[in-house]
Amino acid sequence: MATIFSRIITGEIPSYKVAENDQFYAFLDINPLTKGHTLVVPKCEVDYIFDLEDNELAAMHVFAKSVALAIQKVFPCKKVGEAVIGLEVPHAHIHLIPIQKESDMIF
Ligand code: 5GP
Repeated sequence: MATIFSRIITGEIPSYKVAENDQFYAFLDINPLTKGHTLVVPKCEVDYIFDLEDNELAAMHVFAKSVALAIQKVFPCKKVGEAVIGLEVPHAHIHLIPIQKESDMIF
């Protein structure tokens, strides 16, 4: 069965798209830690980010960097933090979290 992120990539489940290329899809997290919290996912279904081949992992980070730079223009912030968590959804993903100060955190 397709993961929830695969169903988002195909458009079966709606999402707010931030960016996309042939390999990766970036969209706003439904439960953001800060405004602009974005998820970057590979279009291929791989459970765990460190199961990606080295070249795929490198390409994902290059894509994530371009997304982070774009996010900074829309959500001015000190930096865009990157996190790999993966507790909830078994589809490799990177969290991009704009951070200005601790009080930005929504939780
Ligand atoms: P993790 O697997 O890294 O612990 O967290 C998965 C993330 O995916 C969570 O931050 C959660 O809010 C987000 N998420 C789960 N389901 C959906 C969804 O249907 N749409 C969107 N946009 N984000 C989701």
